[in-house]
Amino acid sequence: MIAAAFWWIASSSQAGALGPWRDDPLVAIDVASPVDALPDLEAPRCSSIPRAMVTLEQRPDLYTLVNPANAWGSPFLTDLLVATAEEMAILLPEADPILIGDISRRGGGPLYGHLTHNLGIDVDVGLYTTAGRQQIASFPELGKRNLDFEASWLLIKKLLDSDRVEFILLDQGIIDMMRTWVLENDRVTEAEAERIFPKPNTPRLWDRNSYVRNAANHRDHIHVRVRCDSGGAALVATEP
Ligand SMILES: [Zn+2]
Repeated sequence: MIAAAFWWIASSSQAGALGPWRDDPLVAIDVASPVDALPDLEAPRCSSIPRAMVTLEQRPDLYTLVNPANAWGSPFLTDLLVATAEEMAILLPEADPILIGDISRRGGGPLYGHLTHNLGIDVDVGLYTTAGRQQIASFPELGKRNLDFEASWLLIKKLLDSDRVEFILLDQGIIDMMRTWVLENDRVTEAEAERIFPKPNTPRLWDRNSYVRNAANHRDHIHVRVRCDSGGAALVATEP
């Protein structure tokens, strides 16, 4: 395991040097943990979000936006994305900026190619491939062969640690690999693994927050949904 960790650190140190898009110096971050420093806010009312949407700022030192026109979201989400990307830049300074796909269009509403992403609370995010790499335009198919488990686990963990995430969608095959990896590498206890990666047939999953669950067509990215307060009403479809 020590050898494996050394290999990862050694190989990831090449990632920044090789990445042609890493020309932007990292803007100084003045807190030790940007995710921990996020204000402890109540989730916003779902119905209030369209009027309060902001566009995710361009931060090429931290992340790449696939389509800036579809980068409108609740500040509850956009602030989380900036803080998480900053946290990853601190934890893995040689890894690539994160690829961020669609959030929502301005004001929300249907978004081509998605069943959700209509309310500024959903975002597609790339996981890391070998040696801390991220892509610049599209999400690569992931598997045991190319998934950077250490870096991708850190990204998922930091998102969940924020207490802002309702769920993260990912293909069950990738979830199973990740769950096995975090247990074998002592990143979590059995109880934590069960909470974060509950089995698909776990009763009342919908009552939970901060967990990862299966969704088809998610072998190449995670879909992150943050919480919002629907006042008890059923919200929107939860598929991608
Ligand atoms: Zn999505």
